[in-house]
Amino acid sequence: MSDSLDHLRTRPTRATTPDLQFVAPGVWALRNVFVNLFFVRQTYNAGPWVLVDAGLPGAAGKIRHAAESLFGPGARPEAIIMTHGHFDHAGALESLAEHWDVPVYAHRLELPYLTGRSAYPPPDPTVGGGAMAWLSGLYPKHPYNVGSRAHELPADHSVPELPDWRWVFTPGHTPGHVAFYRESDGVLIAGDAFVTTQQESALAVWEQRQEVHGPPKYFTCDWEAARLSVERLARLQPKVAATGHGIPMRGATLQQELTELAQHFRELAVPAQGRYLPDPAIADETGVRAVPPPVHNPSTPWILGGLAASIGLGIGIWLKQRDGARRRYKHHGRNRHHHFDQPATGYAAAVDPFTPVDEDGGWFPGPQNL
Ligand SMILES: [Zn+2]
Ligand SMILES: [Zn+2]
Repeated sequence: MSDSLDHLRTRPTRATTPDLQFVAPGVWALRNVFVNLFFVRQTYNAGPWVLVDAGLPGAAGKIRHAAESLFGPGARPEAIIMTHGHFDHAGALESLAEHWDVPVYAHRLELPYLTGRSAYPPPDPTVGGGAMAWLSGLYPKHPYNVGSRAHELPADHSVPELPDWRWVFTPGHTPGHVAFYRESDGVLIAGDAFVTTQQESALAVWEQRQEVHGPPKYFTCDWEAARLSVERLARLQPKVAATGHGIPMRGATLQQELTELAQHFRELAVPAQGRYLPDPAIADETGVRAVPPPVHNPSTPWILGGLAASIGLGIGIWLKQRDGARRRYKHHGRNRHHHFDQPATGYAAAVDPFTPVDEDGGWFPGPQNL
């Protein structure tokens, strides 16, 4: 990967990309403040479609409006399919599922958090990295509950309504996290297994400069499983990756940075300290069974000051951007000085491996753009 700042400055940012954007034939991403969700259609020109993830609380109207702009008035999906159930991916889930009266699919290990059975392991504000991490203790923790609409993803790795796609088990960020992959053209919807912005930093999230990072640290509850999941996705060598946070990436840059992340995950993605190091949270089909004790955070007195400074900086940037001014920020890159000496333990070895899809094509000609 090039570390050239000039090279990085040429990459897309929030300022240069629309909220609703074409990702690949039949795939569109909608940015909802700081998280992405996806509209996916099996045939590119017409026909059924599904919603992948459901954005922040209060986003139902925006999501429905975007769906209608893509698919026409009254557009309704066949299903809502979840990468995982964190509040920024499932915030509008109950509202949308009820409004559209559609089933909701997720991995069986994710269902406890979508059916009111269990809250996630607590977020870990001690992982560092910026205001998004510091604030994580305040994020909504309650489980969502879509009741009997919730269904387990098929055991054969098929994806309901999308015969060309397969789901890939990618636990670690959450116990039942999955990604979705279309092998025919190498399109990956990765959820938060890895992301394409530095999600811990409010400044980076605001700007959204494209670069591959590990899963958001403050919510990741099993780092060894997360590492194995990134390895699994890197082996696919995706040509396009749309992730839960950040602008979609593609081509050689994506593949190089994802490979680098997989090869140096402990240095690049794992925090130097945190509640879920070295031991992970333990969860099963009933939800969370055990979590490590909270970690004392010696920097707590500084958090409010740093938070106030971040908010002030954010407002300043917003005002600047609103006025059409251009600003450049020094790219901080990844922290290459982290150490990870103790291996984490988890339950990843017990998971089903990804089943490769057939070579039967199923490729439909379609519009290359909106
Ligand atoms: Zn998440
Ligand atoms: Zn997320």
